[in-house]
Amino acid sequence: MSKPTGYSRRDFIKTGSAAAGLGLAAPAALAGALPEAPGVIPRRSRPAVVSSGNGHQYRHDGDLTCVETVFQRMTQGDDILDSVIAGVRINELDPGDTSVGYGGLPNGDGVVQLDASVMHGPMKRAGSVACLEGVRTPAAVARAVMHETDHHLLVGPDAQRFARNMGFTIEDDLNSDVSRARWLDWRRRTDPSRWPGEDDPQRIGFLSGMEMVEEGLIDAEHYWGTINCNAVNAAGEIAGCTTTSGLAWKIPGRVGDSPILGAGLYVDGEVGAAGSTGRGEANLYNLTSFLIVENLRRGMTPLDAGMDAIRRIQQNTIEPRLLNEQGEPNFGIRFYILNAAGEHAGVTLRGGGNYAICTENGPEMVPFESLL
Ligand code: ASP
Repeated sequence: MSKPTGYSRRDFIKTGSAAAGLGLAAPAALAGALPEAPGVIPRRSRPAVVSSGNGHQYRHDGDLTCVETVFQRMTQGDDILDSVIAGVRINELDPGDTSVGYGGLPNGDGVVQLDASVMHGPMKRAGSVACLEGVRTPAAVARAVMHETDHHLLVGPDAQRFARNMGFTIEDDLNSDVSRARWLDWRRRTDPSRWPGEDDPQRIGFLSGMEMVEEGLIDAEHYWGTINCNAVNAAGEIAGCTTTSGLAWKIPGRVGDSPILGAGLYVDGEVGAAGSTGRGEANLYNLTSFLIVENLRRGMTPLDAGMDAIRRIQQNTIEPRLLNEQGEPNFGIRFYILNAAGEHAGVTLRGGGNYAICTENGPEMVPFESLL
């Protein structure tokens, strides 16, 4: 499998903030070619990794979780985005995480369709894939889109063709035994003969999914489910990735927020990063990750920036089918936020739970701040 790695030495030298942050002087021969740095202030950040809770749950075949892997790699000097992609790859490959990559819960036709985006702060570049079938590691394909093309987003069969051309292994079916069994169960439950009098097939499909969550067959986190992971190294370099199998039993071809910049992920190399899990449509309507990063730019703390975005989603949710008896949004959505100094927050529209972090103190699960 082709695995384009980080950006080149030439790109690195061009990245003034990276060199400044590392305390590196530009080689004399290059000095004239570099833009005048307006007072090079060494920027020191507290290295930190933040992710959805599944980032400190799965290990695939190894000893480390996603956040531990990212922290280890970036502090050893690996490229910041390569480190993040190496971390989420654990979740993509682990069939136990039924919300990401191999073994992700499939679409309504039983086909695993994956979405992913990556964004590299110092390079100011990004790549995405949507509705990709047959490749276990869509985040690495998104990185190849970023490195090898002049484009940002490739979709469907053409994204798969691109991946094949880049040397990725293409498989016929990314279902694990568990994801296939859950899909078959869902099909059985949505047989209209079991629901006399019901006349809204989409609603039946949703209720059946929720029934499976209540019965403990599907982790609520995985019915939607995704991994978002963002990291900042000691030089203040920031990168992020969001990778997912998307909404369980989705209409084939449905693309969620994860591969859409500003929605499922946004990184500004000077400011911070934000990414999301949960109801993608609510996020797409509000481009909330972009809003959060802009809030950080205006000086808000990660917590205030995230809560402001969650309130925006609440204000813009007015359809009765999306409201509970108290008139509040009835779905879940969560954001994972990191600023350039290494400060972080996890915010959720409703409910509790934890997000994952890893700093020099090691990995930790930290409670979300909840709006409702
Ligand atoms: N946001 C993802 C989507 O809508 C799913 C999730 O994170 O739960 O596809």
